[in-house]
Amino acid sequence: MFNNLSEKLDKALHVLKGHGSITEVNVAETLKEVRRALLDADVNFKIAKNFTNTVKEKALGQDVLTTLQPGQLMVKIVKDELTQLMGGDAEGINLSGNPSVILMSGLQGSGKTTFSGKLANYLKTKKTKKPLLVACDVYRPAAIDQLHVVGDQINVEVYSDKGNQDPVAIAQAGIAHAKANGHNVVIIDTAGRLAVDEAMMTEISNIHNAIQPQETLFVVDSMTGQDAVNTAKAFNDVLNFDGVILTKLDGDTRGGAAISIKSVVDKPIKFIGTGEKMEAIDVFYPARMADRILGMGDVVSLVERAQEQYDEKEARKLQKKIAKNQFGFDDFLNQIQQIKKMGNMKDLVGMIPGAGKMMKDIDIDDDAFKHIEAIIHSMTPKERTTPKMLNASRKKRIAKGSGTSVQEVNQLLKQFDQMSKMMKMMQGGKGKAMMQAMKN
Ligand code: GDP
Repeated sequence: MFNNLSEKLDKALHVLKGHGSITEVNVAETLKEVRRALLDADVNFKIAKNFTNTVKEKALGQDVLTTLQPGQLMVKIVKDELTQLMGGDAEGINLSGNPSVILMSGLQGSGKTTFSGKLANYLKTKKTKKPLLVACDVYRPAAIDQLHVVGDQINVEVYSDKGNQDPVAIAQAGIAHAKANGHNVVIIDTAGRLAVDEAMMTEISNIHNAIQPQETLFVVDSMTGQDAVNTAKAFNDVLNFDGVILTKLDGDTRGGAAISIKSVVDKPIKFIGTGEKMEAIDVFYPARMADRILGMGDVVSLVERAQEQYDEKEARKLQKKIAKNQFGFDDFLNQIQQIKKMGNMKDLVGMIPGAGKMMKDIDIDDDAFKHIEAIIHSMTPKERTTPKMLNASRKKRIAKGSGTSVQEVNQLLKQFDQMSKMMKMMQGGKGKAMMQAMKN
């Protein structure tokens, strides 16, 4: 996420480190670099200029803070301003109605349908709501099918009416269906076009007027940079929407949209999409995003993601197994699944302070566990619980079945053995012995 921008800002701010005090000269130099970094990230020129002017004023007005390193002070000022630019505090969505109606808007391909599913899944699991998805794209039957596929995946009902050509009527019937069937949230997915045009704006505006949603969200592909900002403006002029959803932040995004959109439409970014899977949704926290852009990682989100996957009962069961030396490959497989649910690997590594920068050139395969999983899947249940029984011919069979080599099987067995020993030591609280084992 925002690798280029992070790198350039890091370089720009680096210049100040080592200087004794903040002077007009080195502030000007730094800010020139900061502005260039923002422009390269596709931030609007006026916004970039205002940003650096504000930072400059603040930096020069703070000579009282001589105890701090100037570099650190600059980073703090830049971070605070960046946070402000992206919205200040995180803002939730309005779920006050019964049902609360959420209308999705945006161009075709922006990720509306995917996000509708993600939001339904999020509300169902996090807020214990009973959502209904409504398919209002009357032009592309495939779009309706897509929403049904999404709904099946997350176990959320989808209301559609394939023969009906009137999106307003479908939206209204969807809401009536929700009321009659005890759904307390209705998420309405609408048709988008490839570019802003009058017909689309009239249609979405008609739906908006007819159903008066509690929350209107504008979904936009963050990869589209300044275009994203222009589209946001066009939709906001018609809908006066409540919040922005930035999708595809897992891609090679330059960051311009995330940084500029709030100040152009004065509406908060509420959620971000970070992948194609239904779990790849995050509440947008401007301060955390600023940390990430400045290469400071985002430990809070990382811990939260880990906690989401943490099940106390399961953890206790696992602990007992480890203590009894019964931790097998099935448990290992289970753990891998949990880690995978936390998000894509590159994204997770980027949340560790400094790690994003360190590992920027290392290709972290999102399917890093593919071989391990294949090897374990090729084992019999007995082999999974009793790895000791894996003799040469069994290993050969497993390698063949998993499309790997005996070497890879051996490597996994060795790692598993080391890990089991380490876990056992941790259980016994033998910290020193564990450190020793890690060194070996
Ligand atoms: P719609 O036309 O606005 O409904 O867009 P879709 O929901 O069909 O999404 C268009 C494409 O973008 C699909 O291939 C999605 O899988 C993909 N997509 C949506 N959100 C994300 C995201 O956050 N990250 C990535 N990598 N892909 C996404």
